[in-house]
Amino acid sequence: MKAAVFVEPRRMEVREVETPRCGPGEVRIKVMSCAICGTDIRIYNYGHHNVKPPQIIGHEIAGVIDEVGPNVKGLREGDRVIVVTSIPCGRCAFCQKGSPNLCTDFKAIGYHYPGGFAQYMIMPEDGVRAGNIMKIPDNLPFNEASLVEPLSCVINGQSYLNIGLADSVLIIGAGPIGCMHAELARAKGATKVMMSDVSAERLNIARGFGIDRLINPAQESLEQVVAEETDGAGVNVVIVACSSGKAQEDALKVVATQGRISFFGGLPKDNPYINFNSNIIHYKEVSVHGAFASYPSQYKQALSIIAAKRVDASKFITATFPLDRIVEALETAQKAEGLKMVINPWQ
Ligand SMILES: [Zn+2]
Ligand SMILES: [Zn+2]
Repeated sequence: MKAAVFVEPRRMEVREVETPRCGPGEVRIKVMSCAICGTDIRIYNYGHHNVKPPQIIGHEIAGVIDEVGPNVKGLREGDRVIVVTSIPCGRCAFCQKGSPNLCTDFKAIGYHYPGGFAQYMIMPEDGVRAGNIMKIPDNLPFNEASLVEPLSCVINGQSYLNIGLADSVLIIGAGPIGCMHAELARAKGATKVMMSDVSAERLNIARGFGIDRLINPAQESLEQVVAEETDGAGVNVVIVACSSGKAQEDALKVVATQGRISFFGGLPKDNPYINFNSNIIHYKEVSVHGAFASYPSQYKQALSIIAAKRVDASKFITATFPLDRIVEALETAQKAEGLKMVINPWQ
């Protein structure tokens, strides 16, 4: 089969490799769509502690089951499916209390195991048993289904924020994740959704998502705009959907009393510190939440929301590429020319 193999940072090779076969308990998926995630770009540039090259990466996967190993129940050849990335151990404290996204001993597709930038992939036995293959409706296109994974992470992030009717929400970072946050916040009843980004290009793309106020902090004061838009109260919810310490500091400056903040994006490892007035959190009763990955019930919710077009996944896909052009796709995603790039390995 054809696969894109991550060999070392900045080196991805499209090669002919042996087509994997199913062992007992395993399932083989013919990959139809695999979207490019911010993490894939990071792995391509710097490598990753959970990826031992040479490895096939890619984890936002939709496809068709085309081989089922012995002893697999409930899944059949021909099923249209998506893949849940992280295979939890099922035994650690976080698995047992229902937060498998924080499993201390997880293995992930596209990291520890070969992923979706290939024509086929195997779901290992542990993953099959843990429910890491999820069936999708017949009428949901594979490209759109591949966005269930990022939306599930957005759902996880917002699960802490209690966004409801008439809330005001500011999203810092106008990338695909930021735009998904905007769509979901509106679906939850937020009446004012604002978005800020220092890239005029990104803001331009975000225009298609019906954002109430786009802000470019390089051209106008974020604090001032938020004050104007909220009658001086500050914004109820701030979601930092980019990896910028400055953006995290800004979030604390514009949040309202009893506001909620999500640090959705991590910061660069070599500079993860920020500076802020901690009394803001104390006197205003502000909550600051983290968010990491997602778990199967959130995939189910994301799937249902995408299938019902409450979030229109097709609007996020700005380009598709065959496997041969994966480097070009990664570079395009990195330059933020558009939102989601999807690889179609059979094109
Ligand atoms: Zn992802
Ligand atoms: Zn665990």
